[in-house]
This record gives sequence, structure tokens and C-alpha cells, in this order.
Amino acid sequence: MSINIEEVRKQFPILETQVYNKPLVYFDSAATTHKPQRVIDKIDEVYKTLNSNIHRGVHYLSNQATLAYEEARNKVQGFINAEHSHQVIFTSGATAAINLVANSFGETFINEGDEIVVSTMEHHSNIVPWQLLCQRKKAVLKVIPINQDGDLEMEAYKSLLSDKTKIVAVTHVSNALGTVNPIQDVIDLAHEKNIPVMVDASQSVQHIGIDVQKMDCDLLVFSGHKIYGPTGTGVCYGKEDLLNQMVPWQGGGEMIHKVSFTETTYNELPFKFEAGTPNIAGAIGLGEAIDFVSELGVDNIAAYEDELLQYATNKLMSIEGMRIIGTAKKKSSVISFLINDIHPFDIGTLLDRMGIAVRTGHHCAQPIMDLYEIPGTLRASIAVYNTKEEIDQLVAALTKVAVMFA
Ligand code: PLP
Repeated sequence: MSINIEEVRKQFPILETQVYNKPLVYFDSAATTHKPQRVIDKIDEVYKTLNSNIHRGVHYLSNQATLAYEEARNKVQGFINAEHSHQVIFTSGATAAINLVANSFGETFINEGDEIVVSTMEHHSNIVPWQLLCQRKKAVLKVIPINQDGDLEMEAYKSLLSDKTKIVAVTHVSNALGTVNPIQDVIDLAHEKNIPVMVDASQSVQHIGIDVQKMDCDLLVFSGHKIYGPTGTGVCYGKEDLLNQMVPWQGGGEMIHKVSFTETTYNELPFKFEAGTPNIAGAIGLGEAIDFVSELGVDNIAAYEDELLQYATNKLMSIEGMRIIGTAKKKSSVISFLINDIHPFDIGTLLDRMGIAVRTGHHCAQPIMDLYEIPGTLRASIAVYNTKEEIDQLVAALTKVAVMFA
């Protein structure tokens, strides 16, 4: 089956938006994807028909809400092929999930002099929580370099792994360059030395799919709002044994077994890591988004988006002065670029006036910008609702802008 683009687009009401009297052309899905009507309806339905707090009530609505929330967890489990649903912890996003890992794994396993390995191409949310941990524990952050194409330097990676390395935390796909990392090699090499690996799947889960058992990653995180789900939702998956060993990070209701002033004991997975009232409607909305993606088929989405990526890359290259930042061997759904020495913000602002939404700046990945010695880029990112016609519009608009500045 291939993607029926008209059918897909019909499901996203926001695509009807007019921007300055021009039809919206949205190429900022790496920041957040739009939501299909069924996700919007699902959230509406939750508040209209089953709004109640979960897990604690004896009454009808509470039971219904709990069932729906846990069903959403089962959907995530199936989607990433986790062995058990209790390995899926709902968070408010990838950032919260990484902070959970850095704090909880960090508190349990990281000591003075230990090393944590990340890469140059990480989003700030997979750098700063580890830096905070390193400051607290007097641990050391090691960084896998990348080459000018935007590929990980795998030999350098191998040489960073040692007895001191306690965790590797690497992104699957770079949000700033589009690089698809050889994540299986990253994991396998770490495992040869019994080092656990956390994968940031924020930019891969919606484009190329995830099978946590096949990958054998130890921890994996992603945001719900980048996979057609609501904002304020995310997932932290972990291997059961590892999650059981990790001390809880946030304390509060639901994460406890028994509280007293002499001793407090903690709940079992996944509740140990879900303190307080979660984003109930959001999680259920995320379950609906996962149904949307599953029904389209991740492989179909990947094939369609790859075609768009190739098409866009070729067309953009025809623009005078075009410089694509990130030309890795394998890429997914993100094109970062500059035109001559025009500031990305200026181009982004002019595109906006033509109804075209792209992102400008460092994309929360400043170390990458330092590597390329640039202040930032323009980033066009692709989702399943984009079309070749929209790419043509982007290329025509950029050509116009380039001429204006020339
Ligand atoms: N990791 C990557 C690779 C990202 O692209 C992002 C967001 O752009 C994040 C983590 C953080 O996601 P959020 O802001 O939804 O928590």
C-alpha cells in the first residue's frame, strides 16, 4: 500500500489555514507535527465522556479513564514492540524522559570519575541533563565527534568506550542535520563492553519506526507531539531489569507502595516513574496518534517521506548559492541549508510572508553549529502530509529570495 496523500491531508484541519492570504505550507514538523482530526476528537471525547483521575477511583468514570489510559500504554508497547506494557513510562516529552533517565539512572549507577558518552549532534535535551549529572556526581561527559558530512566518527566512538563508560546516550536521527545514525552498531559496540545504551528516538519513531527488542537498546525516549500526538506527552521505554534497579526520580502520589515517616516503599513499574496525576487525555490522544501512524504503516510513511526528501534535496541543489548542511550517507526527513551568506532568519521571515513555515536558528543543537562555524541554518522538515507541490513552492520562494538578496 502506498500513501494516499489526499486522504492523509483531509485528516489535518490545520492544513486549511491561510497565512497572509496564502495557503499554509508547513515544513516545520521536526519541531512539532500537526494533529489529525481523530486525535483532536479523542482528546475532546476524553474530557466529554471519561474525565476523571486514574488508578485511584472506585467509581465508573475513574475505571473507564484508567482503562483508556492503560490501553494507550498497550498501543505504545505494541508500536515499539516492547515485551511488556509496564516498560512504557509516560512522561511529558522526550526532554522529561531524558531527565528521568539522567537523574534516575545517574543516581543509581554514576559515581565520581565515571564517563557518559553522547555525540556532537545531540539535541540540547540530550546534553544538558547529562552535564547537570556530571556536575553533581563529578562524572565526565565524553563526546563522539562527527565529520563534515554529519556522520558519526565510529572509530572515535569505539575508542571512547572503556571500563569507565557507564552509559551511551545517542540520538537515532539528528534533528538539525537529518543524519540517520548506525544505531545498531552504536548499541552492539557498547554492549560488547556491557555498557547500556539510551536511544533518543524523537526524530525516528515517526519516520522509520522502532523495534526495541530487535535493537536491544536499554532505554529509549521520544515525544508524542512529534508523532502526530498531543503536546505534553512522551515516552521512556526501558529494559525491565534496568528500570527495576533504577531509583525513582520524582516523588509523589501513585509512585509509592506505602508511605510512612520511618520508611517509604515504591510502587512497581511503570508507576514508580509516574509520580502525580499524568497527562491522561494526552496519553490517550497519543494512543490515537499511534493508531493513525500504524494504520498508514511506518514502512509506507518512510518510503513516501524518502521520496519527498530526495525530491526536495535535488530541487534545492538547483538554487544558486545553496549549501546543504548535513550530507550524511543516510538521512531522514530533515534538510538544513544556507543560501550564500544570507542570514537564515532573514530568509525564514520572507518565507513566512509567502505562507511557508520553516525553522531558523540552531535547532537546539548549538555544538553542531559550532562545528560548521555557522550561526544557524534554515531547516525544512518533512512529514507524511507534505507534497511535491509544496516542495516546488518552497524552491520557487527560495529562488525569489536568493535573487532579491543578490
Ligand atoms: N531530541 C531530539 C532529537 C529532538 O529533536 C527534540 C526536539 O526537537 C528533543 C529531543 C526534545 O523534545 P521535546 O522538546 O518534545 O521534549
